[in-house]
Amino acid sequence: MALVRQRRLALTLDLPVADPASDRRRLLPPLPPPPATSSSSSSSSATDDRISDFEKLSVLGNGNGGTVYKVRHRRTLALYALKLPSASSHSASLRRELELHLRASPHPYILPLLSPIPSPSGDHAFLLELMDLGSLDSLLRRHGPLPEPALASIARRLLLGLAHLHSLQIVHRDIKPANILVNSAGEVKIADFGAGRLLRRSLDTCLSYIGTCAYMSPERFQPAAHGYDGFAGDVWSLGLTVLELRLGRFPLLGEGERADWAALVCAICLGDGTPAEMDGYDASEELKSFVGRCLERDAAKRWTVTELLSHPFVERSDSDECDRVFRELVRTES
Ligand code: ATP
Ligand code: MG
Repeated sequence: MALVRQRRLALTLDLPVADPASDRRRLLPPLPPPPATSSSSSSSSATDDRISDFEKLSVLGNGNGGTVYKVRHRRTLALYALKLPSASSHSASLRRELELHLRASPHPYILPLLSPIPSPSGDHAFLLELMDLGSLDSLLRRHGPLPEPALASIARRLLLGLAHLHSLQIVHRDIKPANILVNSAGEVKIADFGAGRLLRRSLDTCLSYIGTCAYMSPERFQPAAHGYDGFAGDVWSLGLTVLELRLGRFPLLGEGERADWAALVCAICLGDGTPAEMDGYDASEELKSFVGRCLERDAAKRWTVTELLSHPFVERSDSDECDRVFRELVRTES
């Protein structure tokens, strides 16, 4: 305990503060036209739709960015998810989320954004493909810890989704179970580009403090000391997500420990080795090694998405069987 206190004192936090003005300076170019989508659920040609064309059926989720509703198109009866921004959302942030999401689509492991829909506030809502089983966070709460083959299947698809984003110079910055959606067909898709950032130049570091603190990498708290590489930050969050799905709880805090700011910062930034190595949890050597490579505290030593795609935990001869285990798991949930 004394050691922890000592280390708390040694940790000089250097948090970059969110700066809406600088966000505005970085305004993105005019929006591209809505994507032509081949999704079967997009038959409403939603481009011309208004919010009043959709009947709200239920709330799917709430977050910092707004409320997501399950909706039905009144004319076609097709089902969608509609994300309505909260009143406090900044127009510039919404434009950035929209542009990043459009830029990232279409891809098999990225949630399809079907269309922006004009909202009464003058901004827009997001019409999204409906993922009928919700997020991995809710799946975890219903099902408990996931078996390793299912995790390998999820991890491989998330890595392919991230490889796609990173190849477009997009860092997601908010990978966590609540932002990964699943459906009863066994598909897994990365959602929520509200914290994302496009790195336009190799020196861009996207320092602003946006995203979910609990899943942020250590260097994000002390960028001046360690430098901040957004791509490596996404890898850290992915490793934490996979470990959480295995353990059934947030990995960096003990059972029942309160997730306050100080406890989180200590757990993320302090300690020796990787968090995965410190925790004597029950898992195969391949999974422990995979998570360990993602959760290297030193970002320079952390594996990249490309390297992780050839890690034995995800590149395996039984990957079809892993996909089948995951499909079976979601089939029993639906
Ligand atoms: P936060 O700021 O907390 O990350 P947010 O306000 O940006 O969240 P989203 O992450 O996009 O909003 O969505 C919030 C929740 O709504 C998700 O965690 C998920 O449970 C649900 N949700 C979002 N999109 C869909 C969808 N297409 N299908 C089903 N559920 C969805
Ligand atoms: Mg979210």
